[in-house]
Amino acid sequence: MEDCIFCKIANKEIPSKTVYEDDKIYSFYDLEPQAPVHVLIIPKKHIASTDDLTDEDQKLMGYMLCKVKDIAKELDLVNGYRIVINCGEDGFQTVKHLHIHLLGKRKLTWPPG
Ligand code: AMP
Ligand code: ZN
Repeated sequence: MEDCIFCKIANKEIPSKTVYEDDKIYSFYDLEPQAPVHVLIIPKKHIASTDDLTDEDQKLMGYMLCKVKDIAKELDLVNGYRIVINCGEDGFQTVKHLHIHLLGKRKLTWPPG
């Protein structure tokens, strides 16, 4: 999608610090980390939010979720971690390209703010 910052990051039109990449997904460090480790995992296909998922995306979303543990292991998140997907205004989604936040290396509180 033309004006999407995360599409541009996945296409390397905007620089980012790569964590993991394959033909379906891209993972990179968040610019404003909320924990000592804070990375984002995105599908290379533009999907605006979880609200925009279709049955066609089931395999891709399952794939993304299954990759989390590999990325977490690579980042040495041996003590656990949190994954978050914000959606829409109340969910405080600021970038309209679906992404998983992966946060770790500190004790996270619950409930979130
Ligand atoms: P959300 O609020 O769930 O939409 O999360 C968007 C996240 O993208 C925020 O944590 C931002 O810090 C992060 N972000 C925005 N622009 C960039 C960028 N160019 N590189 C890395 N992370 C970014
Ligand atoms: Zn996009």
